[in-house]
Amino acid sequence: MPDLQQLRAEAEAAIGAAERASELEDLRVRYLGRKSELTQTLRSIGELPPEQRGPVGKQANEVRRALEALLGRRTAELEAAELDRRLAEDRVDITLPGDPPLPAGHLHLVSQIRRRMEDIFLGLGFSVVEGPEVEYEYYNFTALNHPPEHPARLPQDTFYLAERVLLRTHTSPMQIRAMELQQPPIYIVVPGRVYRPDTPDATHVPMFHQLEGLAVDEDITLADLQGCLLQFARQMFGEDTKVRLRPGYFPFTEPSVEVDVSCFRCGGSGFVADERCPTCKGEGWIEILGSGMVDPNVLDYVAANGYDNERVQGFAWGMGIERIAMLVYEVPDLRMLFENDLRLLDQFGAGP
Ligand SMILES: [Zn+2]
Repeated sequence: MPDLQQLRAEAEAAIGAAERASELEDLRVRYLGRKSELTQTLRSIGELPPEQRGPVGKQANEVRRALEALLGRRTAELEAAELDRRLAEDRVDITLPGDPPLPAGHLHLVSQIRRRMEDIFLGLGFSVVEGPEVEYEYYNFTALNHPPEHPARLPQDTFYLAERVLLRTHTSPMQIRAMELQQPPIYIVVPGRVYRPDTPDATHVPMFHQLEGLAVDEDITLADLQGCLLQFARQMFGEDTKVRLRPGYFPFTEPSVEVDVSCFRCGGSGFVADERCPTCKGEGWIEILGSGMVDPNVLDYVAANGYDNERVQGFAWGMGIERIAMLVYEVPDLRMLFENDLRLLDQFGAGP
């Protein structure tokens, strides 16, 4: 017969000293398993003299219950302690900055300028609308008063995708599409990509961005056009900027004007520190867009939607967004805007 009290004391000491839940499993096998002394004792009770069976069985069962209870308590304690330790070790401080901090990007120069232009015209009461880059010949040319023989319609000057379907050569088709959807008055600007089969050089690429503008209302005159573009020029290039209109020609405006702004670099003098101003090439003026009064023939295409050219008039303009970006950021070559060279783009991280 083993000394059950000594066995109990030894087991309790071992269980109390265990540091991991896995050790307790080994102790459970050693002291309570099938081959343990205690289990053997309980099994062999029948071999004892009858007067010993009751007391020994009672004592052995007490020891077994005590050890099982102690194992249960210690297991719970150790598992809780391990959980606490893991929680402490794995804690992530989400208030710390990322490591390494991610570089924050910024909008491309063309996008920055486009947004500035949109903001200025929104402030003047215009809405921003966008249209399809794949366009019908009708909207790109015909309804914009381009006669059938107009050279811009030739494949040398326009990308055709199918008969009478092309990549728009300007954002002007949205003039017609917008007027088909909305009766006068209408005040819209149309930013977007346009396409022309040009061989790339410092001032030409086959894809670039335009911002078209259209205003149609009663009693609109060329003075309204000039005032609108003067407000734009002052906000884009500086409060002292002046605007100059020169006669021009476009099929869909009559009269048509080329619009210059006074050079914001040399103040219109043509000189910077006694050198010829590089921005205006010494002219004192910079051409920024073409515009004019909407040709009554254009309004005739949407006359059914309320554009009676006896009652309403309008002005329109088309402006190259890259051209403005090149002026503002002093980018010497248009192609640089599309090379995605971060050494150039990172110089202009002003953000959105
Ligand atoms: Zn200048």
